[in-house]
Amino acid sequence: MEPINCNICAADDTQPVVCQNGYDIVQCKRCGLVYVHPRPEADVLSKLYDGYHQRNGKDIHSWSVLMKLIYKECAGMLTNEFPRGADVLDIGCGYGHFVSVMSDLGFRASGIDPSADAVRAALHNGLDVRLSTVEDLSFGENSFDAVTMFYVLEHLRDPLYALKRVFHILRPNGLLILRVPHTTPVVKALSAFNIKNNLYDAPFHLYDFSPETLRLILTLSGFSSILITPGAPTVPHVFAEMLVSRAASTAARLIYKTSGLLIGGVSKSATAVKPLSGAEAR
Ligand SMILES: [Zn+2]
Repeated sequence: MEPINCNICAADDTQPVVCQNGYDIVQCKRCGLVYVHPRPEADVLSKLYDGYHQRNGKDIHSWSVLMKLIYKECAGMLTNEFPRGADVLDIGCGYGHFVSVMSDLGFRASGIDPSADAVRAALHNGLDVRLSTVEDLSFGENSFDAVTMFYVLEHLRDPLYALKRVFHILRPNGLLILRVPHTTPVVKALSAFNIKNNLYDAPFHLYDFSPETLRLILTLSGFSSILITPGAPTVPHVFAEMLVSRAASTAARLIYKTSGLLIGGVSKSATAVKPLSGAEAR
């Protein structure tokens, strides 16, 4: 296990949130970022990911169903913003479902994923997908009009560095769309009633971003015009989970629409732009 400092503000000043699955989750007292501390070393984490996409009975089809409304919403945003033929990269593309959606819409869509099984399946379907982590991105500066990262940031060892890499490969005025879970308010509420849960999914999720910390890390990475919304819900294949997801999403979207407030405990979508004249993030 390795101790780490806060990924956003570099402080080593935390308070405990909860212990789940044998891992301590802490919150930075300075910026509020929630993270696993200490965490397993990179090689240990990497081995844990063998079979990740098959966990909890999921298969290729259930991943596609789980994300279909989010993909539909994001595809709508991209077709509104960019002409056909624009370059789109999906980071953490898994089996390549979103790459397929955007390719079918006439975009030059590609993806990267660290899972060999998932990449093999995507290549088998004729998609432009390669085995890579976001840290090892080999694309040049200004390569893409848009980058998407659905439920990726919370898995990364160094999300700030990853976002700076994404900023680098985006063209000026390029768009980043990402989606992250936001678990801490629910965990804190359940803990108050001493209700055990494993919602952080540690150590797969190394971070939990609130709207505030998400805005902070995107700003530090160089992005502007940051908009954070409830976004579309996931569609879990277990019926009861699907109902909970729909109900929480409907409530979150209604509250956001009527008051502009982002309620805690439900996933958030964010869009952020690489400014036209912005200096490279350092
Ligand atoms: Zn911090």
